[in-house]
Amino acid sequence: QGKRDGRGAFRFFQAEMGIALRARAQLEQELRLGIECGEIEPFYQPVVSLPGRELIGFEVLARWRHPVQGLLAPDAFITLAEETGMIADLTWALMRKACTDARSWPSHLQLAINISPLQLQDRQMPARILAILTETGFAPSRLEIEITETALVNDIEAARTALTSMQSLGVRIALDDFGTGYSSLYHLRELKFDKLKIDRSYIASVPLGAERAKLVDAIIALGSSLGLVTTAEGIESSDSVDWLAGQGCTYGQGFLFGAPMTKVATDRLLTEWTDGAGNLVLDRAANG
Ligand code: C2E
Ligand code: MG
Ligand code: MG
Ligand code: MG
Repeated sequence: QGKRDGRGAFRFFQAEMGIALRARAQLEQELRLGIECGEIEPFYQPVVSLPGRELIGFEVLARWRHPVQGLLAPDAFITLAEETGMIADLTWALMRKACTDARSWPSHLQLAINISPLQLQDRQMPARILAILTETGFAPSRLEIEITETALVNDIEAARTALTSMQSLGVRIALDDFGTGYSSLYHLRELKFDKLKIDRSYIASVPLGAERAKLVDAIIALGSSLGLVTTAEGIESSDSVDWLAGQGCTYGQGFLFGAPMTKVATDRLLTEWTDGAGNLVLDRAANG
């Protein structure tokens, strides 16, 4: 009896596995096609200076406009793209679109784009970026590359070479989600960054949680002692803005200033949110 139950459970498990594998294979095929057909779309999230809330640019965040499932967030497809080697095609298509979109925006605005740590192993990467910048006429000094700390690198030499050659093009490098990796200080010692982005898990509780606030304070101080600027990610309430600015945090990003939005919404933001002096101040975000 028990044996038969076991076999039944195993068959059930096999069937479930089969379904999961087929679903994954199908998603993989759809993603390949989606990248080719231009279904990967850049969304733009405002980045502002603190405490003035002046718009300095946008982070580019990938969305997949799936023909059946609708708009998909990165957690539904970035890992799959990484595991199947499609991440490079995805990234370059996204970067090309974003640099093209940004052509009609004020020329001081920057773009930050996320690169998978896997791509640091690709020797062609700096050349690919330069080709896209040249093709779209986007100045390298307006581009920032974000690299997440969580899975940074196994080949530190290759990473250093890639980062250095991008910096020599004039592109800046940000260490993303700082404080979530298990070897933050190692990365800071071994690689040269221009910016630290403090992970939003620290920011959510600022200034309410005294311990986290101390850590945020220490990260900002660490950054500035290394000559790096800092961005606080995930700012949702206006209480934290003055505190962060007071600690010396340079930039802020979060739902308070604006969620990631389409190009159309971004165009609208840029025409509507200009103050009398022609500055783009996102103060209105707080009021809706
Ligand atoms: P990230 O680079 O740290 O991007 C910030 C994420 O935090 C975004 O999620 C954004 O929507 C979210 N966020 C921003 N402000 C707030 C806030 O105030 N509150 C909360 N709760 N969340 C906020 P998203 O767009 O879902 O992206 C998730 C992650 O996926 C990104 O984290 C990045 O690591 C990755 N990703 C996105 N686009 C790309 C891409 O083109 N290439 C690669 N390799 N990774 C990407
Ligand atoms: Mg990022
Ligand atoms: Mg981040
Ligand atoms: Mg993240």
